[in-house]
Amino acid sequence: MSSFKHNWTKSEILEIYNKPLMDLLFEAAKVHRKHHDPNTVQVSTLLSIKTGGCPEDCGYCPQAARYHTNVEGNDLMSVQQVKAQALRAKASGSSRVCMGAAWRNVKDGKEFDDVLEMVRTINKLDMEVCCTLGMLTENQAQRLAEAGLYAYNHNLDSSEEYYKEVISTRGFEDRIKTINNVRKTNVTVCSGGIIGMGERIEDRAGMLVALATLNPQPESVPINALVAVEGTPLENEQPVSIWDMVRMVATTRIVMPETQVRLSAGRTQMSQEGQAMCFFAGANSIFAGDKLLTTPNPDVNEDMKMFELLGLNPQKPFIKKMQPKTIEAKDSHFKDLGEKPKWTRPEHKIPRNENAKIKSKNLK
Ligand code: SF4
Repeated sequence: MSSFKHNWTKSEILEIYNKPLMDLLFEAAKVHRKHHDPNTVQVSTLLSIKTGGCPEDCGYCPQAARYHTNVEGNDLMSVQQVKAQALRAKASGSSRVCMGAAWRNVKDGKEFDDVLEMVRTINKLDMEVCCTLGMLTENQAQRLAEAGLYAYNHNLDSSEEYYKEVISTRGFEDRIKTINNVRKTNVTVCSGGIIGMGERIEDRAGMLVALATLNPQPESVPINALVAVEGTPLENEQPVSIWDMVRMVATTRIVMPETQVRLSAGRTQMSQEGQAMCFFAGANSIFAGDKLLTTPNPDVNEDMKMFELLGLNPQKPFIKKMQPKTIEAKDSHFKDLGEKPKWTRPEHKIPRNENAKIKSKNLK
């Protein structure tokens, strides 16, 4: 448990978010410099190990099977393919590989066993390994931890209230339950959300309340700006302004001082000046690589040029926490339980998600 303030309220967070910008930036930069090296930025590479065909209805996501988008699905990558990509990421300065699979939840069996082998393989390359695989039971979290997983990503996406306007196929409480399952292991928690989905500023504050009142707070918080993809229910949302992004990053930094605040989706819409302001406001992590799962991301070389220009250095792996030990499958203490957990499936329907589904059916 940490000694940071954990009883943040929405009104306290709103007060910070709405400060005059110069005061907000100054305060966030002070907190940032107290807890982090301001010239070091952690670089992660996001790898889509299984793309598309997801049964969920997340309104922002082109990988949901029900929406008609241009995303081409693929089956689970092989361990060798993942290893090759991880080596490439390491050579270009990434200290972490985050593997994403478009699944509702992890299912015990061959595919999960393959993912565990991918985790072992990347950890042995002395890189931090993160996975984002959907909902997770405690036993599955333990098995990932044994394989050498460093972090598990499971975003809250928005406030509990606005979440119901974006996703209907699982509840906010399922997200919290998965985070709690990860917390029972020594794997670190990565959890954040998306702005620009039509939410109010109160919802942004609500999401930060949900994250900052976790004890311990997440080690990593990605802040995404919506990339509105044609065919998804949110295709017509307007891009988030840089000022909103800077305010969100600065507020996150102030309420979660030790956390790594990650600039995630939406960086292609941001100028270098805008990103520099986010780094000043406390962002200290980015996703590198030309794609973020399925949406565009700045070119790695462009990022390295920006680092040079700003005098930033990529962070080495295992600075915040020791490298986990990898236990081989044959020595595992946690067996495949063949679990079939009952995650919630709320009954409500979201009109814009339903409309997108009907529209995409007609297009096929
Ligand atoms: S965000 Fe994840 S869970 Fe939601 S539809 Fe996309 S792949 Fe599926």
